[in-house]
Amino acid sequence: MRVGIIGGTFDPPHNGHFYMADKLRMLYKLDKVIFIPAGVPPHKRNRITRGIHRYNMLRLAIGPRPYLIASDIELKKPSMSFTFDTLELLKKRFSPKTELFFIVGADSILEIKTWKNYQKLLKFYRFIVVMRPGYDLGKLDRNIAKKISVAKIKGLAISSTDLRLRVREKIPITYFVPQEVEKYIYKHKLYKQEVVS
Ligand code: ATP
Ligand code: MG
Repeated sequence: MRVGIIGGTFDPPHNGHFYMADKLRMLYKLDKVIFIPAGVPPHKRNRITRGIHRYNMLRLAIGPRPYLIASDIELKKPSMSFTFDTLELLKKRFSPKTELFFIVGADSILEIKTWKNYQKLLKFYRFIVVMRPGYDLGKLDRNIAKKISVAKIKGLAISSTDLRLRVREKIPITYFVPQEVEKYIYKHKLYKQEVVS
């Protein structure tokens, strides 16, 4: 089995996430793609929406598609999770034959050196990197570039940061997020207030 994994805050999940999951599923013949919302990521403490909302939005967006999965593995942990630890935990749940592909956007791979055990991460897991407007993969360290696969697709020009701003400023977000996510955001009055950083 071939399994793709996308970690992130998903605050909120948007079409950029689902577009890349679907395209990579086809390009890399992935049987499943798992989205793992972060509990308390080290760099975003105090300024992210409650995990249950982010998880609910992911599940609503995925709907009945059996090949996309929202995992609460990190949300269930009381403290922050490191990707390395999460992947080690996940690996144990699959058969040794399962190939795990860790999917990241260009912005994330450009920061990889700040991640716990990043060298082991790159050694143990196959990384698929998706280009993202505004981030230049040419700036990537050569040793890291050698270890990753850059997907033949370009990421959409959508970010959760931009969507949070739009909601706060009452600008529509239709077409940037699945309809169910848009409804959920308004129903639960998310992103109305400026967050503390
Ligand atoms: P934020 O602006 O809050 O950081 P985001 O849009 O970057 O939100 P994340 O939840 O941080 O979304 O992203 C999870 C993963 O998906 C990261 O690896 C990120 O690089 C990648 N990603 C997010 N949006 C895109 C996109 N439009 N194109 C390519 N990769 C993306
Ligand atoms: Mg991000």
